[in-house]
Amino acid sequence: MSRLGGLVDVAPRPVAEVFAGKQVALGESTVVRRVLPNLGRRLVGPWCFVDHYGPDDVADRPGMQVPPHPHIGLQTVSWLLAGEVHHQDSLGSDALIRPGQLGLMSAGAGIAHAEHSPVPHPALLHGVQLWVALPDAARHGGPVWEHHETLPLVRESGGTATVLMGTLAGATSPGTSYSPTIGAEVDLGPDGEMLLPLEPEFEHAALAMSGSAEVDGTRLEPGALLYLGCGRRDLRLRSPEGARLLLLGGAPFEERIVMWWNFVARDNDEIVAARSRWNDRAGFADVPGFDGYRLPAPALPPGRLRPGGSTR
Ligand code: MN
Repeated sequence: MSRLGGLVDVAPRPVAEVFAGKQVALGESTVVRRVLPNLGRRLVGPWCFVDHYGPDDVADRPGMQVPPHPHIGLQTVSWLLAGEVHHQDSLGSDALIRPGQLGLMSAGAGIAHAEHSPVPHPALLHGVQLWVALPDAARHGGPVWEHHETLPLVRESGGTATVLMGTLAGATSPGTSYSPTIGAEVDLGPDGEMLLPLEPEFEHAALAMSGSAEVDGTRLEPGALLYLGCGRRDLRLRSPEGARLLLLGGAPFEERIVMWWNFVARDNDEIVAARSRWNDRAGFADVPGFDGYRLPAPALPPGRLRPGGSTR
């Protein structure tokens, strides 16, 4: 369990800090690059989790295989660069997510979902799984699933940005945000360059999903997160060979949160209660179609869970 949030480590001015992600095995056949949280940073605005996976050739493999599991206190953002993912949840939602479409699930007080590569599926699977921490005013409500097949674009001669969350250059995503948030994919062509306007009050970060790029002069390769701090009015992005980047940010998240497994809460007792609700089948509905099969929550660490201190 780690405790994070608050404003202690928010850089009030522009910085350029590169944090290496780490390889994490999910199940038996999938390895992801977890770039947030990392050893030096736990939050960027309300963004609290970023896994980047692929591109993987899954032509002869099952691909994504995530059985029903619960979430509380967060939004999941599913974003694909290649492939397809079949989303099912305890609201009865059943959706096929394709590249360029936003799968946005607000857990509120609790939801369960499953994500699988459909059969058959495209050969390549490439994407990111993102979490946004919900503020206190939104985390006790009912769950909501949103599937937005069309998102606004910001076009310049050097590239195109797709707005996943929030507003960029006057273009606003239809996805629901519960605190000031920005999320955008930026596609740069060869020798492409874009100058994107930013909210100076937001903190921002960027990652390269494919190709390499210069972000305000700092070289960025896939597998790392570039933390940019607050106080930027714009951001220059360029790439000699072409690149696909993810820009994330938002107002610094002032509420102190506790993350464990698939839960975002405020203290130890909430985590323990959510784990019991899931494992005791008391409070999370089943995902239809799985005959009650679900991924059990792992054991809690021995003793009473303690917040991890003030680091984020
Ligand atoms: Mn999930």
